[in-house]
This record gives sequence, C-alpha cells and structure tokens, in this order.
Amino acid sequence: MDQATVTLVRASNPGPLTGSGTNTWIFGLDETVVIDPGPLEEEHLQRVAETALRVGRVAAILCTHHHQDHRAGADRLAELTAAPLAVFYQRADRAGVLPLHDQDRILAGRSELVAIHTPGHASDHLCFLAERERLLFTGDHILSGTTSVIWPPDGDMAQYLASLRHVGELAVDRLLPGHGEPIDNPAEMVATLIGHRRAREEQILAALRPGPARPVDLVPTLYAGYRKEVWDFAAQTVLAHCLKLTGEGRLRQLGGGDEAAFELT
Ligand SMILES: [Zn+2]
Repeated sequence: MDQATVTLVRASNPGPLTGSGTNTWIFGLDETVVIDPGPLEEEHLQRVAETALRVGRVAAILCTHHHQDHRAGADRLAELTAAPLAVFYQRADRAGVLPLHDQDRILAGRSELVAIHTPGHASDHLCFLAERERLLFTGDHILSGTTSVIWPPDGDMAQYLASLRHVGELAVDRLLPGHGEPIDNPAEMVATLIGHRRAREEQILAALRPGPARPVDLVPTLYAGYRKEVWDFAAQTVLAHCLKLTGEGRLRQLGGGDEAAFELT
C-alpha cells in the first residue's frame, strides 16, 4: 500500500507556550486531513488550504484539543476547504461538528488515521495515529522544545502520565508534535517525560518537608533555571502535581482557590 505524505505548515504565533508557533499538519495520499488548523490568522489558513487542496479534497479538519492556538482557525479553514470539523465528542458543541471517540477511524481517500484519547494536557485531547506510516500526531500531549503545561482542573497530571504510558505502547517510529520539530525516538522521549515528572514530584515532596506552601511559592526554587515568563504556567503544573499527590494520599490540601496550600501527610 502506498504511504500518505505529511506536510507541515507552521503558524506565525511564537510564544512561551507555543514555541516556534503552532504546527498545522496535512496528511494524505489522494485526499487529505488537516490536523490542528492553528490560530485565526488569514494568511496561515490560506496557506494551509492551498497546500492541502493541492493534494486533493480535504476529507476532515481535526483538532487535537480545544485550546485556541490549535482550534481558533477551524471554522475559517472549514469555509476555505469545504471540509467538516471533527473534535472530541465532549467539545463537539454545535451542529455540523463531527464528534470523535477513542479508537474512531478517520478516512481520507486511501489513507486512514485512528483517534487516540489522551487526556492530561486537556480533557478532550486526542492524538492521531497513522498505523501504516507508523506516525503519531501528538498535539500538545508530547512537544519538542517546550513542555506541556498541565492546567487544572481541565488538565490532570494523573491522566497525563497514564496517557504518556499509553502512547509509549503504540507502534510508531515518529512523533509529530503540535509545536516544535518531529521526534524520532518516541520510546526514549516518553521515558524522559515520565522520568521528568517523577523527578519533579520528588522535588515537590522535598520542598514541602519544612512545612505547607502554595504551588506559586515553590516555583522560584523548582524552576530556578527557567525564564520568569513561564513561572505562571509552571505554578499551574506544580498545582497539578500537588492535586495528583493529594489524590494518592501523599499530600493534604489546606484551603482552596489561589490560596490553596499543600502539606505532607
Ligand atoms: Zn494546548
């Protein structure tokens, strides 16, 4: 069987969370699917539509998750390509948007993708698996050059780690992330990310030994080597770790909202 080709069109929205910009992937052989339209940026969407339609009809526009740097351009791209938008069923919030479930198959002419539900970064997060090509489109679940922010309550650290282990079991040679460059050592990458999270968890437990603290108070120590512009996001990820550890009975939460602090049990 012939293999589908993959083309990258990168949006010009670089930033602390988007790295060099959102990656819009075009996948197909005789027809195409577009994965993550990106921001509502006319020039970018025109370029995506042109590139995709050069291969053939656009069968569907897929979003890995609802965050605006991935989905905001979806409706405009749907106009430009006359293709339907397909997202995780819980976010298929209006008529005409196709609901996707875990393991659903998306057909585009002679090529095919499988939706893989990977909650953690976002509760509606999907990765898309190209079995024949041994590729996985990872959205914000696995990134290169930046780390996924886990922002509670929609982001969930326990689910994120479970989804990482799930992706680690897939038979793929290459990961195509929502930001950054392709990753050619998937198993190693997954192991590194899980190891990074374990190490962070140990650091948080150690930092709480002297007494209770809020996640935001732990950030200057835990993220000392990072640029300050990421500290607000880092506080969310530390909160996500603390909530996971609370769920496991290793921490106790004191108070709620922004003032929530955590202590060792
Ligand atoms: Zn995201």
